[in-house]
Amino acid sequence: MPVIYKYSAATECSLKRPFQMLIGGAWVNAESGETLETRNPADGSVITTIPAGDKVDIDQAVVAARRAFENSPWAGMTPGIRAKLLWRVAELIEEHADVFAELETLDNGKPLKASRALDVPGAAAYFRYWSGWCTKVSGQTPQLDLPGEFMAMTLREPVGVVGLITPWNFPLLSAASKLGPALAAGCTAVLKPAEQTSLTALRLGELLMEAGLPAGVVNIVTGLGIKAGAALAEHQGVDKISFTGSTAVGKSLLVASQGNLKRLTLELGGKSPTIILPDADLDRAIAGAAHAIFRNAGQVCAAGSRLYVPRRQFDYVVNGIVSMSGDYKIGPGSDPETTLGPLVSERQRERVLGYVDDARQDGAQILTGGRAYGNAGYFVEPTIIGNVKPDMKVVQEEIFGPVLVVTPVDDLEELAALANNTIYGLSASIWTRDISSAYKLARRIRAGTITINSGNIGGPNIPFGGFKQSGWGRENGVQGIESFTELKTVITAL
Ligand code: NAD
Repeated sequence: MPVIYKYSAATECSLKRPFQMLIGGAWVNAESGETLETRNPADGSVITTIPAGDKVDIDQAVVAARRAFENSPWAGMTPGIRAKLLWRVAELIEEHADVFAELETLDNGKPLKASRALDVPGAAAYFRYWSGWCTKVSGQTPQLDLPGEFMAMTLREPVGVVGLITPWNFPLLSAASKLGPALAAGCTAVLKPAEQTSLTALRLGELLMEAGLPAGVVNIVTGLGIKAGAALAEHQGVDKISFTGSTAVGKSLLVASQGNLKRLTLELGGKSPTIILPDADLDRAIAGAAHAIFRNAGQVCAAGSRLYVPRRQFDYVVNGIVSMSGDYKIGPGSDPETTLGPLVSERQRERVLGYVDDARQDGAQILTGGRAYGNAGYFVEPTIIGNVKPDMKVVQEEIFGPVLVVTPVDDLEELAALANNTIYGLSASIWTRDISSAYKLARRIRAGTITINSGNIGGPNIPFGGFKQSGWGRENGVQGIESFTELKTVITAL
């Protein structure tokens, strides 16, 4: 008997209130009056609707953000007050943790356990971390190498009005990880959450207002990527776009942003390798490799979606992961027993199953899974595919589902070349007891994050981003905040 989870009264109440957009401090519908349905991925039912914002709404939001950027109280607010504000947002997220976790699970499908343990506390941690940065953004005083006496200084100023475009895999966390540094740097923002999962971002907007953020500093416009997202990316009044999503859309933003040469940070796709060396603690590596691909149903940009194992250990490792894949409890995120939830949408499920079909037709072998699961909702079984060739689509392209491709390796010297053999370079993980081999390999892999004896982990102070077509720039840490600033040089002859 599936456990029927009773959502808290606060969540029921939150769902009864309309989800509206935040523009200039007011909660509004789309000018067009159009809405989009939001579905529960666990059963396909409609949870609620969100406004289908478009160019007109984006325009109003950008105007509001510009006004807030140039005027008091935001423009004149001391860094310490901004810090208190961001800290208060973190506290408010924690106070409303139950509602956020439940909304995230309803909207995205992920297990409630994960929403509670990672997404919600993670979002609070982001705001707390970035709160600390408000008082620490500073320039330098380089010495001019010229005759005469000068004082030269650099000032780090907010880049201006920023457009933040976020994906559906970690909706609240992505919003927090972009809003935090933008606000700490003194920018104002227009946030465009993914159309599939906008609910927690909209409720976060309420907390931002409750914390005392002045009107217009954060605006939230919901709507389709091709309408609201594209309008934001093209808008001449936006100084920077920070985007997380697919590489294809990331590339389109280069064109969209060229009109006013806006700055771009792109956190794009990946096809990250898990590499197990012969001397690894195989049982730990097996558990790590399974977690790296099946966590969040594989909808993780840094998911370990390719596995390379020396031929001698190959069967043991692959059998181990196949066996672990059978331990996942597939079900609605609201069931406390669930460890593998649905994919975010029907479209994503079909996309993932399409890749599996392609692999079958290309002669690959489905070692486990490979099918939709259940009669309702967008579930896909944990899937492992063997007998693959390096040029197959399933090996080269980001699938964004619980699908692992496995390859035996005969010559360890080839490992770096195999790991590097995709257009992506987001992350890689290496499992070994020989730290020297690990570091040597880490140096040869072209990826933004390499983990050793661990799946992908990080946090607000750990730079994250990609080499190659996995993106431009880094989020988090000092690089993260600097990307929301412009550097100004002031030179005075004394
Ligand atoms: P996407 O890139 O289409 O969407 C991400 C965000 O961009 C959403 O907010 C969307 O509304 C917006 N967007 C879409 N088209 C836009 C446009 N033309 N201009 C401006 N904004 C636009 O991703 P998706 O369709 O949601 O997922 C497709 C694939 O993207 C996934 O299967 C996966 O491969 C990848 N993805 C990667 C990440 C990541 O963290 N790297 C996250 C989500 C999806």
